[in-house]
Amino acid sequence: MENQIQITLPDGSIRTFPKGVSGLDIARSISEGLARNVLAAVVDGQVWDASRPIEADAQVKLLTWNDTDGKSTFWHSSAHLLAEALEALYPGVKFGIGPAIETGFYYDVDLGDHKFSQEDFKKVEDKMLELARTKEVFSRTSVSKADAIAYFEDKGDEYKLDLLKDLEDGKITFYNQGNFTDLCRGPHIPDTGFIKAAKILNVAGAYWRGNENNKMLTRIYAVTFPKQKELEEYLHVLEEAKKRDHRKLGKELELFTFSERVGQGLPLWLPKGAALRERLENFLRRAQVRAGYLPVVTPHIGSKQLYVTSGHYEKYGKDSFQPIHTPDEDEEFLLKPMNCPHHCEIYRSKPRSYRDLPVRFAEFGTVYRYEQSGELHGLTRVRGFTQDDAHIFCRPDQVEEEFMKVIDLVQYVFKALGFSEYSAQISLRDQEDRAKYIGTDENWDRAEQAIIRSAEAKGLNTVIEYGEAAFYGPKLDFMVKDALGRKWQLGTIQVDYNLPERFDLEYTGSDNKKYRPVMIHRAPFGSLERFVAILIESTAGNFPLWLSPDQLAVLPISEKYTDYANEIFLLLQEEDLRGYVDHRDEKIGKKIRDAEVSKTPFMLIVGEKEQAEGTVSIRKKGEGDLGSMPIGQFIALAKEEINKNLLKFQK
Ligand SMILES: [Zn+2]
Ligand SMILES: [Zn+2]
Repeated sequence: MENQIQITLPDGSIRTFPKGVSGLDIARSISEGLARNVLAAVVDGQVWDASRPIEADAQVKLLTWNDTDGKSTFWHSSAHLLAEALEALYPGVKFGIGPAIETGFYYDVDLGDHKFSQEDFKKVEDKMLELARTKEVFSRTSVSKADAIAYFEDKGDEYKLDLLKDLEDGKITFYNQGNFTDLCRGPHIPDTGFIKAAKILNVAGAYWRGNENNKMLTRIYAVTFPKQKELEEYLHVLEEAKKRDHRKLGKELELFTFSERVGQGLPLWLPKGAALRERLENFLRRAQVRAGYLPVVTPHIGSKQLYVTSGHYEKYGKDSFQPIHTPDEDEEFLLKPMNCPHHCEIYRSKPRSYRDLPVRFAEFGTVYRYEQSGELHGLTRVRGFTQDDAHIFCRPDQVEEEFMKVIDLVQYVFKALGFSEYSAQISLRDQEDRAKYIGTDENWDRAEQAIIRSAEAKGLNTVIEYGEAAFYGPKLDFMVKDALGRKWQLGTIQVDYNLPERFDLEYTGSDNKKYRPVMIHRAPFGSLERFVAILIESTAGNFPLWLSPDQLAVLPISEKYTDYANEIFLLLQEEDLRGYVDHRDEKIGKKIRDAEVSKTPFMLIVGEKEQAEGTVSIRKKGEGDLGSMPIGQFIALAKEEINKNLLKFQK
């Protein structure tokens, strides 16, 4: 029938509706409950207003708060609500752009002479909620370019007029809710009533269109939620994240520092941080030996030609640090941006036969990359960092087995460091456009299948992303989730068909012919700098016992028990447990508090009773008093906790 259209839902079911049906109508036909939660609809792959009429047969998916696109529609609509509230409170305000961001949204505004500050926040939040309660409907209208220009000329908003310059007549839409009209292509949620909680987060300056020759506007960051409780949870996580900021904790725990004189983005590891880092290195080194890796060492610089061959010069050359010229020989060197080219040359150092493969070269290799000073951030964005790098050179038929082994190693690392919630993303070729990838179809298929099968065999929780592979090979990335629900990307396993080609790497097959090996790059930590930052933020500085800078503090109640405390400490040191005796002439309460601040896992308190009985009184961080026990019992307890995380890596 002419006035009927067919709507295909995500479960594959097809339903007939009258022409002009909206996402909201479709939701209502399923259930009222669903209709109350529908924020937008995906119509043939495009996100639409849930209220926009659908005029032809289409695939439709209804979006709620649980969908990323649902959330961003909610937040972008909230930007309109923020603008409406601002206009009500500060007449004459002009508007730039107001997009949704990863969490929340912002609006760039010109408030004239008014300096928007903390004192305005509450007023604006209240106004937003007041307007939200009236359930203003977001309505969409098409306007001609001339009418749109007339509207904003009349309103006197030069920013919207500037945006209109780039828009094509016939494709311009206005959205209106309540007393506010905005130039926008949408989509938006059905009405403002969905917004039940609002919070202005902060204010920053932002040049119009990101150009410093333009006027500096006020960027107002905010977040909204469909439930008050969700806002409270979000603010709690924000607060907790602030406390866990690795830059703050790194300083308090005396792990690392930066010096202007040494240079931006170049971390200096303090003794405690260096020891922690060394423990991480040794831990992985031991596991790698068991997994058949061969340690190699390469220099911090390499000839320009090396990176031209590898292609890194093209990629990093322009942005990299300036070349280093030798005074007499006119040679040109670059700081090493990647370890791979050096490892390729190690592979080439002697002929390889199919029987020799795989070979696995591992190096804690320090690399340098130029980052703009504005981009630098604690240990997560630096200019010099050390990768726990390794390169596996194998035959195409060995890719699957090698992948499995690397996954084993990564899982072992996660277990030892207490990351229990993680998932993996597998990045494969674009299924439509295969021309842009280097390497044969056959090898790609094989490697992609190998990755999928090994992830499955290891029970990983995976998502597959098509089109996300690098041009030179598919990869698998691990994502870990911390206690605050934040996700961190850790550990990449990357297949590479490109470098073996560029470096002309070969092995001799059983038929005596020459073949190209496949290269696999892998780094379970990524870089030690970034990894330590993530570890600090995810554990709030409460490292697993085996890694903790100080595992224990012996706290004598007074000077009288110094000898006994020293005696105990000696026994602990003999058992390779580390820490210190707090000899200061301080009250025991103060000593305990200080040990807590430095996040020392165990406190061994000794006084008259302990000395007389030959025991120690134990306080454990996070658990409190464990009572008194003979020192041997404490040692057994500490060792058990260490071994729990550090079971030997099994091949
Ligand atoms: Zn909009
Ligand atoms: Zn590499």
